[in-house]
Amino acid sequence: CGIIGYAPAESNQDVINVILDGLSGLEYRGYDSAGVAITDPSVSVFKREGELSALESAVPRDSLDGDAGIGHTRWSTHGPPTDENAHPHTDCSGAVAVVHNGIIENYRPLRDELEATGHEFKSDTDTEVIPHLIETALEQGADVETAFRRAIGRLEGSYAVAAVFSGHEGVFAARHQSPLVIGIGDDGYHLASDVPAFLEYTDRVIYLQDGQFTTIRPSGVKVTDERGSIIDTSVETISWEP
Ligand code: GLU
Repeated sequence: CGIIGYAPAESNQDVINVILDGLSGLEYRGYDSAGVAITDPSVSVFKREGELSALESAVPRDSLDGDAGIGHTRWSTHGPPTDENAHPHTDCSGAVAVVHNGIIENYRPLRDELEATGHEFKSDTDTEVIPHLIETALEQGADVETAFRRAIGRLEGSYAVAAVFSGHEGVFAARHQSPLVIGIGDDGYHLASDVPAFLEYTDRVIYLQDGQFTTIRPSGVKVTDERGSIIDTSVETISWEP
């Protein structure tokens, strides 16, 4: 299972190809479903149970310009492998799309709380609480970065999470006990569970640490702690023998 994110320097039709290529670079980790979300600047989601080829034939590559995107290969822990349980998952309005690797241990009380305030769920996954928690924070007036951090702050368990927002540039991500690495490319910024997902574009990386957040945007990469304070990071050049 794995996660991909990509924020190119300029909006273009390659975004979807970079995401789909990245997912095939993560296939070795095993998966039962796959999906992508692209912002243009509204969010479009495509997801399928089964092989990547099933997803690829569902995606209208040629008509899909992208400002940014996320992708996911799922290894089910909560809910069977179905189209509906595949990631990305969205909030009620469809303005936020989220991919997640790991397990949200406290998803049941969170889901009960969200359902009690009118949120409707479409899947059996633990993951789906995340876009709804983000939506709640946005409704309370938080900006997108704060809403993302506030939602992640409610989670217990293990996660690498990435999200895109309708009308907002870039990809927002966080990790706790699940790997996430940032790739600094010449034409944009990458994000992945593991380096093979973007190695054809760059060998310059920043390893995100537990408890850290990042936003990758055309203008650059930002890494913060859980309060939003900027963390200085160092870029490493990796040597990788495929
Ligand atoms: N727990 C999540 C699910 O079952 C994510 C699984 C994964 O890591 O792919 O959908």
